[in-house]
Amino acid sequence: MSKQESQGFRTRAVHAGHGLDPVTGAHAVPIYATSTFGYGNAERGARLFAGEEPGYFYSRLSNPTVRAFEEKIASLEGAGDAVAFGSGMGAASAVALTFLKAGDAVAFVGPLYGGTEGLLRDILGRFGVTVHEARDVEALRTLVSDRTRLVWLETPTNPTLKVVDLRAAAKVAHAAGALVVVDNTFSTPYLTRPLEFGADLVMHSATKYLGGHGDVIAGVVAGSTDLVAELRLHGLRHVGAALGPFEAYLLLRGLKTLPLRMEAHCANAQALAEALQDHPALQALHYPGLQGHPGHEVAARQMRAFGGLVSLDLGSQEAAFAFLDHLKLFTQAVSLGDVESLSSHPASTTHQLLGEETLARQGITPGLVRLSVGIEDPEDLIRDVLGALEKVPVSAGR
Ligand code: PLP
Repeated sequence: MSKQESQGFRTRAVHAGHGLDPVTGAHAVPIYATSTFGYGNAERGARLFAGEEPGYFYSRLSNPTVRAFEEKIASLEGAGDAVAFGSGMGAASAVALTFLKAGDAVAFVGPLYGGTEGLLRDILGRFGVTVHEARDVEALRTLVSDRTRLVWLETPTNPTLKVVDLRAAAKVAHAAGALVVVDNTFSTPYLTRPLEFGADLVMHSATKYLGGHGDVIAGVVAGSTDLVAELRLHGLRHVGAALGPFEAYLLLRGLKTLPLRMEAHCANAQALAEALQDHPALQALHYPGLQGHPGHEVAARQMRAFGGLVSLDLGSQEAAFAFLDHLKLFTQAVSLGDVESLSSHPASTTHQLLGEETLARQGITPGLVRLSVGIEDPEDLIRDVLGALEKVPVSAGR
């Protein structure tokens, strides 16, 4: 067992991926703000470019601050390696462009984040890739074939908080010879490590909980050394959505408190969901930590706690908008996973481009509101939500 594997998650969140700076002894990882690195002589330059000697030579491909972030994520996900990108969508498109070709099929258990579905349906479709949407793992079984190269999963799903059984889905995908990629943005490696359930690749919008403070846009993918090397070559070197060193520094800083933040997010979300159970203004309440949630048992098996997102259905867009407009502590803004609480209306924002038919099929109703529960005092958050629900006019569907 390596030293890192023998250390606990909180220790690795603080220490993995870096030590003292070898030149100055700096305790925090320095921001290596440089686009290129002098390689000294032509022979060494040739060796670096051929991959025959490790080292830095151009920051689109690798940078010491970014590398520390990648190594920390690899450690936290229990992966052989990781590669960082300039956004979650940069990571997703790199995965698609690296592992798919014309004639292949992709299957996913929907809904996925709206941007990911847009990438799969609108862009890959134009390049001869067939896209299949499954409602659940059973339906996935009937949709995969020997043409299926990737099975794309997200759990809990954005924004309906459906739970996907990773082990069962990975079995189906592998039987068809497909690679499994799991978007772990909502769970983070603190709650779920998809590679332990059979995934081949795990990706993140690091913009969310990994950064945690709402001040960075970033993405990352972890997996075996071989798959990550392929991704770095094709998805990063040739596609180019590289992460900057300043963003990597912010991520390294945020990750040190990931376990502590996730504990607070999960405890607050659980308390809020319990306070909202049976509320007369709600047509539905989605939180995997509630006993009545259809994915509760699977979530209990594959998650350490149930996450920081709670979704509510108020029955109509009018009621949802009235509720959102009366919240005081939950800033109305897309994104999630910040220490501050956020609220949004997915059907008219993040998922709008999917169109009415897909939204209806996936349960992203006009009345659905997504709450990203922050780390504030739970009593204040509960008071804010209950107060805003009180203000929703009965005529709006209460
Ligand atoms: N995956 C999920 C689950 C998301 O919620 C998001 C963004 O909201 C993305 C991917 C895309 O990430 P980014 O906004 O960092 O490009």
